[in-house]
Amino acid sequence: MNRPPSPSLSLSSPPISIRGVGEAYARELERRGFATLGDLLLHFPEAYVDADSARPALTAGETCVYRVKVERWRLSRDFRRRRSFLQVKAGIGGESLQLVFFNRPYLQETFRRQDAVTVYGRAEQEEGRWRMVNPLLLSEGNTGVVPLYAPLGALKSGALRRIIANAFAACVEGGDELPAVVLEKRGFPPALAALKAIHMPASAEQCRDEELERLKSRFIYSEFFYFQLELQRIRSLFRERRRARRYAMTRELKEAIDRLLPFRLTADQVAAFSAIVNDLVSGRPMHRVLQGEVGSGKTVVAFLALLMARANGFQGAFLAPTEILAGQHFANAGRYFPAAEIARLSGSVPSAERRRILAALAEGKISVLFGTHALLEEDVRFKDLGLVVIDEQQRFGVAQRAALTFKGRDVDLLVTTATPIPRTLLLTLYRDLEMSALKKVPAGRKPVATRLIPEAERERFYGWLKARIEGGAKGYVILPLIEPSEHFPDLRSLNGEQDFFHSLLDPLPFAMVSGRVASEQKDKALRRFAAGELRLLVATTVIEVGIDVPDAEFIVIENADRYGLSQLHQLRGRVGRGEAASACYLIPSAGCSEGAAARLQALVRLHDGFAISEIDLKMRGGGTIAGLEQSGVFDFRLGDVGRDRALMEAARRDAAVVLSRSELQHPPLRAFLDALAKKRKTISFS
Ligand code: ADP
Ligand code: MG
Repeated sequence: MNRPPSPSLSLSSPPISIRGVGEAYARELERRGFATLGDLLLHFPEAYVDADSARPALTAGETCVYRVKVERWRLSRDFRRRRSFLQVKAGIGGESLQLVFFNRPYLQETFRRQDAVTVYGRAEQEEGRWRMVNPLLLSEGNTGVVPLYAPLGALKSGALRRIIANAFAACVEGGDELPAVVLEKRGFPPALAALKAIHMPASAEQCRDEELERLKSRFIYSEFFYFQLELQRIRSLFRERRRARRYAMTRELKEAIDRLLPFRLTADQVAAFSAIVNDLVSGRPMHRVLQGEVGSGKTVVAFLALLMARANGFQGAFLAPTEILAGQHFANAGRYFPAAEIARLSGSVPSAERRRILAALAEGKISVLFGTHALLEEDVRFKDLGLVVIDEQQRFGVAQRAALTFKGRDVDLLVTTATPIPRTLLLTLYRDLEMSALKKVPAGRKPVATRLIPEAERERFYGWLKARIEGGAKGYVILPLIEPSEHFPDLRSLNGEQDFFHSLLDPLPFAMVSGRVASEQKDKALRRFAAGELRLLVATTVIEVGIDVPDAEFIVIENADRYGLSQLHQLRGRVGRGEAASACYLIPSAGCSEGAAARLQALVRLHDGFAISEIDLKMRGGGTIAGLEQSGVFDFRLGDVGRDRALMEAARRDAAVVLSRSELQHPPLRAFLDALAKKRKTISFS
């Protein structure tokens, strides 16, 4: 595309204004939430290569840069499996080297144009012949330190490199997203300078880990700072508010609750519900977090709170992170509420039905509405919304929470989270949070037997598992990626393992589910799985949150060493919800270090989520990677509340100071808080 040279850009310019970003790339970026150039530049390189460090001769087993002479190449395609295979014969230092590229047929063009190319990869010697699989091809213009990026869909590393270089060429230092007082107090460099140093280090010396950490911490801080601003602003609005309405706990309600409950509440559930009742009868709106182990029974506590709202003439909203979960809660609610008084809004509700629901909602005929963040849409109006339950909070931006709470004047808010967060960390985050914890799971549940399967025994293990599945067992296999990654060849992916599972299970049916599968399709797969028509679900961590299939009895987690322990514990909680004994199999990555494997042993021993999260916090930082479909407790893009706790602490203090000033001069901050007040989504660079 030929466009006149870009005018000066700033970090708040839209990505389409960058030379090299056309409609298609712009859409790809937008879909991933990159609204501005500043957002895009937070996609940091995942590694660097020094293009000038080419070795004169091959060294086995080491990943390095070589300059090779291309002699000839051959492309073969496997149309059925939609694969291609490019073999290149090249020479270096008098030796012959075979380069092999999977699914990159377009590379032929490079070889047509130049007969000497620079590659970055690992040479291996097999039976006296040198081979290099899927090396990275550096382009002619690459000199000095070259950043490598994790691809963003169609935007591969090379394209990102070009676009980001163009962005820097056109970008001028504009307003910083952090106010000057903060930059000064914390000794942070201005945003653009720091970004440039991260993306285009002038020398190998400057991409040392410590230097990069220092620069990146500035952006982690910034992420936390805005999080804290928002959190504290919401909290202060809550504190200021008093509400006109009061709830009362009546004898009839108590009796109704006793009648409806199919089991005895655990002591923790009783305590949590009485704390909620206290909140609801007080004069101040409730803002309580209900924390608890997977399977600890948070839903029923939320239902009781909603029953109390209903008994007092108020409506409730139950917000779930996924359609599947919204459906599940809606189905479970049938036991507690009259069928005519509950409804579910989802993308698949036909428009006539949707209109009917919305009308009934506005008339107050619906007591509890279930759904995902679709409930936040403008046309969803309640007659008298009293209580909002937000299930599995870690998937929601604080902004979304805010949007809903602003909608009703003084709604009560109950947020549940299945990730046990140590109290000390919670205090770093929130300082004055109202929190209830369900520490014990309901009696009679058996712990999930957890075993480590060495990578070397993987094949044998799956052979055994197949026999179990044939015998009627049902469960999950969790893989970290959707597609194979060039940069993380040891991570398994859905697409990469499809053939393996096909031939393993043939003729048994199974389904593959990821965040990229359309939600109807995902729902259908899960329904078939719940019904037992499918006995294996191969999935990414999309199943992490909440899914309740009580008779699922095993979960296999591949590349287990690449997850945090809390996340593994969450995943493990998908099984062991029913009567039968259940098991979790952890398969570490090939070449996983002893230390990483030892870390997994903690899960074999421990079944208490709070204890696990304490260990996790201490051991975080190494090993686990970002860029998995999701990770960690909170949806921070860069930060990790465990690893970067000191930064969070600093951001919390600074945000409080900044908010306490009557004059807020810094324009991005002003805009951010205005937007917050107008129920808009978070903005960072504008
Ligand atoms: P989570 O806290 O993970 O959201 P759920 O609310 O989905 O857990 O509860 C998990 C399962 O435990 C559900 O099937 C629920 O009916 C059951 N349950 C909840 N409380 C109790 C209890 N006190 N006694 C027995 N079973 C319970
Ligand atoms: Mg739940």
